[in-house]
Amino acid sequence: MPTTVNAYAATSATEPLTPFRVERRDVGPRDVLIDIAYCGICHSDIHTARSEWGPAAYPVVPGHEIAGTVAEVGSEVTRFSVGDRVGVGCMVDSCGECTNCARGEEQYCLKGNVGTYNSVGVDGQPTQGGYSQKVVVTEDFVLGIPEGIDLAVAAPLLCAGITLYSPLRHWGAGPGKKVAIVGLGGLGHVGVKIAAALGAEVTVLSQSLKKQEDGLRLGAQHYAATSDPDTFERLAGSFDLVVNTVSAAIDLDAHLSLLAVDGTLVNVGAPEDPLSLNVFSLIGGRRSFAGSMIGGIAQTQEMLDFCAEHGIGADVEVIGAQQVNEAYERVLASDVRYRFVIDTATLA
Ligand code: NAP
Ligand code: ZN
Repeated sequence: MPTTVNAYAATSATEPLTPFRVERRDVGPRDVLIDIAYCGICHSDIHTARSEWGPAAYPVVPGHEIAGTVAEVGSEVTRFSVGDRVGVGCMVDSCGECTNCARGEEQYCLKGNVGTYNSVGVDGQPTQGGYSQKVVVTEDFVLGIPEGIDLAVAAPLLCAGITLYSPLRHWGAGPGKKVAIVGLGGLGHVGVKIAAALGAEVTVLSQSLKKQEDGLRLGAQHYAATSDPDTFERLAGSFDLVVNTVSAAIDLDAHLSLLAVDGTLVNVGAPEDPLSLNVFSLIGGRRSFAGSMIGGIAQTQEMLDFCAEHGIGADVEVIGAQQVNEAYERVLASDVRYRFVIDTATLA
């Protein structure tokens, strides 16, 4: 039987999110029904709810940092049992056959991965995300949350964690590498923890020095303010890798100048408007400008296991679903320390 559950949805680009009822599909043979315990609030939820990346298909129930427990499994499910602690990130399906899916990079599925919300599922219905009580997901896109990480602090790892882990691993962050993380928000603060655990020398580049104490506590060795022009002079040519998590446009040329020869600036922040750069910023140091989107399912599991092993979870502020609009405003004001997480018990 399909289940109807309580949720919070955006109904237009300009109105606050409001209570909403969402229908979850029947549990098919390969499906897992998850009782959602917590769902993180990612800046992408806000970009989508406000149609900043193009028109959203309202109503939209956002949320792709889902942590909970298995409530029911289909007859062919082999990897999960009732009661298991599980998570769901930004995707809930993909074609499974293209070259990218075949090599475990489902996020780059050539037919387009099925997003956890604001997408169309295999049943032809709009997908709806984790600001809700339950969700049904095919087992291939369900992750196991290791014992030792609380569900509330694990939830943000499903998007913020993998979005930083994947490029940090791809571009070889580790001992002897100097890594800068730009923006100390949801993504950035998890990135600092992971880069430090990988053994890199980490610098936080934030708009101001307000979060300096936190940045150092999270594992950074250095911290500098991008509002201070002296920062760009002092740190010129010094990083192997700069990961930009900022949700708005930054001065790419200034940030590229921070790279050593052969260094890479990876953009994971996804602002509404295009960014521009002067090619001489690249030519003048054989530098690369790159992008990266979340990570594949296998690598997401690897990241969760890595975080459990290193005692890494997000720093969270747990809120009731009724506070979601206020939380959005605080995220937009860079006033989040460092991820809002909805306690879905408040949807009952
Ligand atoms: P967030 O919590 O709002 O963090 C962004 C941080 O960027 C802020 O805390 C702030 O840090 C800094 N910032 C904000 N506005 C700024 C401005 N105008 N100039 C300079 N710095 C500014 O957001 P998030 O959830 O981490 O997400 C960040 C971005 O990544 C969003 O665009 C989101 O859509 C995107 N994203 C991409 C992927 C992917 O797969 N590539 C996945 C998830 C999210 P300071 O206060 O330290 O300056
Ligand atoms: Zn996200």
